[in-house]
Amino acid sequence: MPRRLGQHFLIRTSTLEKIAAAACPETGGTVIEIGPGKGALTTHLAARADRVIAIEIDPVLVQYLQAKFRDEPKVEIVESDVLKADLTRWTPAAVAGNLPYYITSPILERVLSLGGQWSRAVFLVQKEVAERLNAVPGTRDFGFLSVQTQFYSDVELLMDVPPGAFKPPPRVDSAVVRLTPRKELPADSRIFLRFASQCFRHKRKTLRNNLLGSYEKELLDSVKETSMRAEQMSIADLVALQARLDLGN
Ligand code: SAM
Repeated sequence: MPRRLGQHFLIRTSTLEKIAAAACPETGGTVIEIGPGKGALTTHLAARADRVIAIEIDPVLVQYLQAKFRDEPKVEIVESDVLKADLTRWTPAAVAGNLPYYITSPILERVLSLGGQWSRAVFLVQKEVAERLNAVPGTRDFGFLSVQTQFYSDVELLMDVPPGAFKPPPRVDSAVVRLTPRKELPADSRIFLRFASQCFRHKRKTLRNNLLGSYEKELLDSVKETSMRAEQMSIADLVALQARLDLGN
């Protein structure tokens, strides 16, 4: 099996079952699975959900999956790049997957911005990424990915998964995270996340220096928080700062 496309298959049954239970705590409903691979997690999801939409990019695996689930009407195999698929075709739904690590951030971005249409997302990701998703302000791991994820959702770290749970084993540790969408967002997502990405443009620079292209220097100098770095600010602090700068005081 080629290792391209992040193909490290989770084989530990207890972990597969825990991911499925976290994604589908009640039976029924639809679950979108990203990167089903050889269908190990798919089987556990199908035991709990009414419908599993399994999106896989590799045509060889798609053929394998179609044969494997031929007699399982709950499972629909979709051959597609998940970054190009219109996920709203299958929502409302839960989302799950042992993600291909090389595209974790763009996958998260797509799922997070699904609006109120996803009930929860349970993902196996690189442990280092899981820590960034769950990081608190003022720590080394807190960055734009943390802000973007926590803006849209509550993050829980469910468990660590060692390389030995996969075949072939990846070189890094992994972890399972669950994201639950917030009922109300703290600000307009498009406007706030554009501002937040500017705030984090250069992590070591102050907010003032990162925002110089967007606001007048005099205005930035008159707001004392701009001498801080973005990683020291909570989401609420950043929302308040944006409101203040946009009002011009
Ligand atoms: N979930 C499977 C398991 O545990 O057995 C395999 C997970 S493996 C880490 C990632 C899977 O995502 C692979 O099957 C790979 O082919 C697939 N994949 C990679 N890039 C993809 C993309 N852009 N869209 C959909 N699937 C993708």
